[in-house]
This record gives sequence, structure tokens and C-alpha cells, in this order.
Amino acid sequence: MKRLARRTAIVMVAVAAAAAALTYLPKIDLSGHTPAERLGLDRWHASDTLALGESLVELLGRRGLDAADAAAAVQSLGGLIDDRRIPAGLEVAVHGDTSSQRATDVDLMVSDEKIVRLHREGDVWTATEEVIPWVMDTVVVRGVVRTNLYDALDAGAGEWLSKGARIALAWEVADVYEYRVDMSRELQDGDSVRVLFERETNPSGTNRIGKVLAAGLERGGQEITAVRFIHPDGKAEFFDEKAKSLRASFLRAPLSFRRISSVFGRRKHPILGTWRRHAGTDYAAASGTPVRTIGDGVVVFAGVKGGYGNTLEVRHRNGFVSRYGHLKGFARGVRRGASVTQGETIGYVGATGLATGPHLHFEVLVNGVQRDPRTALRQSAAVALTGKEKVRFESVAGVVLPELGRAPGPVRAVGQGEGEAKP
Ligand SMILES: [Zn+2]
Repeated sequence: MKRLARRTAIVMVAVAAAAAALTYLPKIDLSGHTPAERLGLDRWHASDTLALGESLVELLGRRGLDAADAAAAVQSLGGLIDDRRIPAGLEVAVHGDTSSQRATDVDLMVSDEKIVRLHREGDVWTATEEVIPWVMDTVVVRGVVRTNLYDALDAGAGEWLSKGARIALAWEVADVYEYRVDMSRELQDGDSVRVLFERETNPSGTNRIGKVLAAGLERGGQEITAVRFIHPDGKAEFFDEKAKSLRASFLRAPLSFRRISSVFGRRKHPILGTWRRHAGTDYAAASGTPVRTIGDGVVVFAGVKGGYGNTLEVRHRNGFVSRYGHLKGFARGVRRGASVTQGETIGYVGATGLATGPHLHFEVLVNGVQRDPRTALRQSAAVALTGKEKVRFESVAGVVLPELGRAPGPVRAVGQGEGEAKP
């Protein structure tokens, strides 16, 4: 008897997990129900996705609703959502009683924040809106680099984050260090990363990343620590444990890490080895990927330059010039003489000039001489906090750094918005 009860419990868990995978189901008190009801065996569930060009009525038709029923269901949406403007890819869950093919419930996953639920009583459909409650806590994750940042965090965070959130965490970490490390090409086997961040979880177990509170990136035995700090004007910035800003005069890469993920694992250099004086760095990326200027400056060249194809050159302070080649085109307003600000999109990846496929050719010239960006851009104009701000920073660091040092896993629960380090 006891064994049977346990087996039933396991089945229930399995059924509940399967149902949760399909859609977010609120917790229901099952005490007064028959065994079949408790197991959910009297209900069927199907999940579906709105295809390109398909209407919601058509989708519901595919799921067994007759035309009048589907039309009534969609009509019940009323002002909640405009059924003509529902985007392709919308996730839809359909449920019904096993005694009938006819659905009794339809859930539309309108956004991360909202579900619209349609319910039928007899022939009458009603629609209600439900806000999805995301619960926040703080988590530490560690990863060791074997091939790239994604793999490091994929392995290190598997237990604590759903797949999409693990990728988003890699993007966030790359952003924290964008003035210090080009995550797409400067990491090596054995480097490691640890991150303290806010994790948000919805009732179906899907995660998303809130704010990164602190991080550590260890390369060749040296760690760059990063602590999130809020300036009096409300802006967030990362500082190391000595209260020096991670910000610098130059971004370490002309393409944002999150923009080039699709080409990871492909060969590095898609160009023929015929270009002898090739002294730059090539970034494989999809055609049209935005290219950003690594620093403030003035455009000193915008046009076609031999094998480089469409090329931009930006002159910065101290005799630095950054060059961007093979561009598909330039951003609006970017022409010779234009001022540009660090991080601004100046053009788009292409394959013009001597290029066999879309990629960005990037060079740094110092006083007219091509230099390795890895060493040329290492110089930083890091600003350090002083006085009251430094004292305030130290109290923030005194809280988050010990937490960053903890074993991987959840650290503590924080309320909505309380993860921010307050003045
Ligand atoms: Zn090149």
C-alpha cells in the first residue's frame, strides 16, 4: 500500500512536470478530487505556436475547434489583445477534458509578463488576463573556460539557470568586461569566471537574468573583479576591488559579443591567405551586424579603400586611429568629418573588397602604424572613486564580494528591486 502511494506520487510529479513544461498552471487544491483528476488524467494538453501568416482562428482550427467555436474564442479577446496583430511565434496552450475533443481552455503566452487565458463554459468563451509572477533571488555561478564563454557558463550554470538564461548571462558578463577583454578571442583554456547576479524565475521554471551585482574573471592567474556601483545620478558602473572603473577610452571589440554568437565555432578567418600585409583582426559575423566605434572620435575616412572595400576610419585622441573594413554600408550620418561617440553604430558588416564572406576587418593604427589591438588597446584611462563615493563603494563591495566568493547556487532571496546597491 505504501509502495503504491509512493509510485502514485512519482507519477503525479511526472505528470505535473509535463504539464508545467507545456504551460504555466497555477497550483490547484486537489484534495477533493477523484484519483484520475488528481493525476490530471481527465485533462488533455497541447502546446502550439502561431505560424507565420496564420491567424489565431486557424491555429485553433488545427487544434480541433470548429469554425464557430474558434471565432467565438477569438472574439472573447475583446480589447485584451488585437488578434490581427498577434505576432508569429506566439505560444499557445490548449486544454480540454479527455471526455471530449473540444477544448475548454486556451492560454496565450502574450509576453514574459502576461498570459491571456480563454475559458469556455458551454458555448460561451471568456478571456482573462494574468500577470506572471517572477520571483527574484540572488545566485552565484562559476565556470571554467574550455572553448568559449558560452560553454563555460553553460556547464557552470546548468543547475541554476534555464538554457536561454545561460546564454543571456554570457552576454551580460561580456558587457561587464567590454572595456577590458574581447570575450570572442581573448579567453583561453583554463580561464575562469564567477558571477553574482539576480535570477528571476517564473512559475514554469523559466529563468531570466536581472542585474549582475559582481563578477570575477580570472585569466592566467589574475582576476579582474567587477562590482556594480550606482552613482548618485542613478547610473550603474562596474569598478574593481580597488574602486577603479572598468570603463576605458576604448572598447576592446568593434562588435558586441551578443551580436556574434551565431558564428561561434566557425573558422576564424574566412579570407584567402593572399593578403600579405594583413595586420588586423577579423570578426566573422552575419551580414548587416552593427559595427560600433571603439572610442569617441572623428571620422577621417569613409569610402572605398582597395581590398578593404567600404571602409571607415575614426581618429581618436593620442594619435589612435581605428579602421573598419569590408562594410556593407555606413550608418546614417556617418561620413568624413562626423563626430562619433564610443559604442555608436557606425556601419554594418559586409563582404565588400577582398572578402570571401561577410566579416569585419578591424585595425588599430598608432601614429600611422598598424598595431596589435590586444596590446594597443590595453592602455586604459581608468577613473578611480574618491572621498565619500569611495567609502560608499567599499561598503557595497564589502557585501557583494563575500557573496561572490560563495559556493555556486542561490545566495539569498531579495525582494523586487532590492538587489540594487543603495546609497
Ligand atoms: Zn582581415
